[in-house]
Amino acid sequence: MSDDTSGRGCSRRGALKSLGGMGTAAALGGLAAGEGAAAERPAAEEPRPASAQEEIAERVRATPLVDTHEHLPDEEVRLRGEGVCCDDWAVLFSHYLDSDLVVAGMPPGARDQLLSAGPDPLEKWRLLAPYWPAVRNTGYGRAVQVALRELYGIEELSEAVIPALQQAYEALRKPGMYQKVLVEAAGIESCQVNCLWRPYRESRQPTLLMQDISFLGLHLGPEIDVFAGPAGKEVRDLADWHGVIDWWFDTYARYAVAVKSQGAYRRGLDHDDVPAERAEPAFRKVLAQEPLLAAEQKDLEDHLFWYCVRRATEHGLPVKLHLGYYAGENYMPLGRVERNVAQASDLCRLSPDTRFVFMHIAYPCWQELLAVAKHYANAYVDMCWAWIIDPVSSKEFLKRFLVTAPSNKILPFGGDYIPVEPVLGHARLARQGIARALVELVEEGWLSPRDALELVEPILRGNARALFRLEEKERNLSAAPWR
Ligand SMILES: [Zn+2]
Repeated sequence: MSDDTSGRGCSRRGALKSLGGMGTAAALGGLAAGEGAAAERPAAEEPRPASAQEEIAERVRATPLVDTHEHLPDEEVRLRGEGVCCDDWAVLFSHYLDSDLVVAGMPPGARDQLLSAGPDPLEKWRLLAPYWPAVRNTGYGRAVQVALRELYGIEELSEAVIPALQQAYEALRKPGMYQKVLVEAAGIESCQVNCLWRPYRESRQPTLLMQDISFLGLHLGPEIDVFAGPAGKEVRDLADWHGVIDWWFDTYARYAVAVKSQGAYRRGLDHDDVPAERAEPAFRKVLAQEPLLAAEQKDLEDHLFWYCVRRATEHGLPVKLHLGYYAGENYMPLGRVERNVAQASDLCRLSPDTRFVFMHIAYPCWQELLAVAKHYANAYVDMCWAWIIDPVSSKEFLKRFLVTAPSNKILPFGGDYIPVEPVLGHARLARQGIARALVELVEEGWLSPRDALELVEPILRGNARALFRLEEKERNLSAAPWR
């Protein structure tokens, strides 16, 4: 989401029919010719050597994945039914498939009912059924279908299977659910969570659910009560607010993997380096709850953006920025979105010591983002959310990235979900796309099979471990006082 903070979405229980397996066939996505036939070959037949395609797909399937972007609430929060819109099977449709449903024609009121705590499971199916055929093949739809199949054993959604689906949902929604879905089923080694409800969550599963510091409210708004309260500071002027920002970094930087802002949902990324003196009058107006002129607002936001980015850089934290497509429906100003990548290149030039992570392949402006990743040493690209927005373009993006920009600049996966269940489906789509991209590069003669195989571990795991210094973070988090 990235980042629709509506909190719609949810999830439920599950029969865990095929949790043990990683779904090889799904991971391969049919890319290895004859793969299905190989699985059915009689035992007596001489095994033939694996083709390069099969080897690549198998390595992608078996390599642990670092998931660099999620919005998951802590498991204990989820098990209390909080952080999600409802607590039945419909939660899988809440984030993000509900948007495709509304765009397909579902009345927003019906969507609200589907995702509310009110209707019984069968009533919910009747709300969904007319629109399901139109959305089942989008990336959002595919991710949910994989989750239904792998977590609950539901091959085909229909009225007849709803009682079993609901029962399976409840069976999965028990302590240990995150371990089963994320680690055992999806092969995820660790996640990086951007908490939507507080600036930094002290997770009870700190090394599985690593956290970003969300600095959105430190530079937009700013949200004085939200941030100053936990810091125990009174804010009477801009210097006091700087002190609040410093407190968040001093307290959590050693545990956080990065800082994150989705400010691009509200404004452009044209952040000028505005000095404190020019921002001070606007900040005083905020404190006095007086309206700001647009220019004053921009000055203040720009100043605070750079104040936060400099703190992050001093603490060695990469700066993750939302770029591109908007979660939700019927409001995205594409003209503004299209300026994101050019503005991101300005940020790279203004602060060469900051490592910027540009998220979501800036969809749909991913070709321009290739140029930024190739040109700027401090530009990294995170493919989080992308495989379910547009799976085919995502495969194409990765393919081109690997023969255009240095391969240590790519982070291939973040589920970007609030409910944990569809993360599995998204991870499967990502593995399928990553394998397919590598195989096509081999088939077309751009990579040797050996080159392709050697890229798998760094892409899925090594790049993220190095960029976010995960070994050090794991050590710090293992000794965190709240665990
Ligand atoms: Zn997000």
